[in-house]
Amino acid sequence: DRLVDAGADGEDTAVEAALRPKDLHEFVGQEKVREQLDLVLKAARARGATADHVLLSGAPGLGKTTLSMIIAAEMEAPIRITSGPAIQHAGDLAAILSSLQEGEVLFLDEIHRMSRPAEEMLYMAMEDFRVDVIVGKGPGATAIPLELPPFTLVGATTRAGLLPPPLRDRFGFTGHMEFYAPTELERVIHRSAGLLDVAIDTAGAAEIAGRSRGTPRIANRLLRRVRDYAQVKAEGRIDRDIAAAALRVYEVDARGLDRLDRAVLGALLKLFGGGPVGLSTLAVAVGEERETVEEVAEPFLVREGLLARTPRGRVATPAAWAHLGLVPPQQGAK
Ligand code: ADP
Repeated sequence: DRLVDAGADGEDTAVEAALRPKDLHEFVGQEKVREQLDLVLKAARARGATADHVLLSGAPGLGKTTLSMIIAAEMEAPIRITSGPAIQHAGDLAAILSSLQEGEVLFLDEIHRMSRPAEEMLYMAMEDFRVDVIVGKGPGATAIPLELPPFTLVGATTRAGLLPPPLRDRFGFTGHMEFYAPTELERVIHRSAGLLDVAIDTAGAAEIAGRSRGTPRIANRLLRRVRDYAQVKAEGRIDRDIAAAALRVYEVDARGLDRLDRAVLGALLKLFGGGPVGLSTLAVAVGEERETVEEVAEPFLVREGLLARTPRGRVATPAAWAHLGLVPPQQGAK
């Protein structure tokens, strides 16, 4: 339940439906993906055809689910949403595929986590709109071909490189989603504030945007927490001071680091002189599991250029010292 986690929690799921942009014009940023997708969809509509399969790669919270819904809306098609981990058996996939309507969009989140047999069934379904349903076992097993209506698969993955090439090749279009610039997140925040009926000024939105780790889901979540604070302390109005004060309460700092991130960085600097220090030692020093430090805290610290993973261990960068307001030990001092 970290405020700066890019994954969706229960509250997000409930609120996000209201905050999702409904068409490509409302969708902020991602110019390249938007432009390319706009062409793909317009061309398909002009031909009266179902759109090509689309692969969206990018970190959680960048808008992959939202885009898949926009694709369906622009194609005036219904959408079915499922995920790789939810499809354990090829039969699960066959059941979904055979119940699709013509032109329907099937959104498959975390597509790289599908089981192997399901993946192989998907190859054929994507290419020929057909699946072979295996009936029976052993030598008596028979494959019954099943025709499918044409559909558009929208697959989402954190990294396109995780997909087996045969699967990757079957997508007509791949969109790479980037982290958002602070100015783009400001637009997301203003838009959401409008929908949530929250009064916020430009500096207030900028303050929240700078702490949102390039991720709209986090921006929307921080906005809701700042709104709570503003309701209690400032008659609901958000400006820079209110945003900063609220996020101080929630321990999200000016660069979007939270308590855990700062603990890891602080230990690295104060206890180990900036490293290099081994991951296990660092984890013990902050009282966390190795995995928590490595998978939860470090990716963002590395992305921000505050920490480097080297063969000799974890090392803080000069920016890390500056960020925590500490002075690095003198070069060459004994
Ligand atoms: P993902 O599927 O990549 O995890 P989502 O599509 O669920 O991300 O987006 C998470 C939240 O962020 C949603 O509430 C959505 O409204 C918002 N969001 C994502 N991208 C954008 C965008 N480009 N413009 C406005 N809001 C966005």
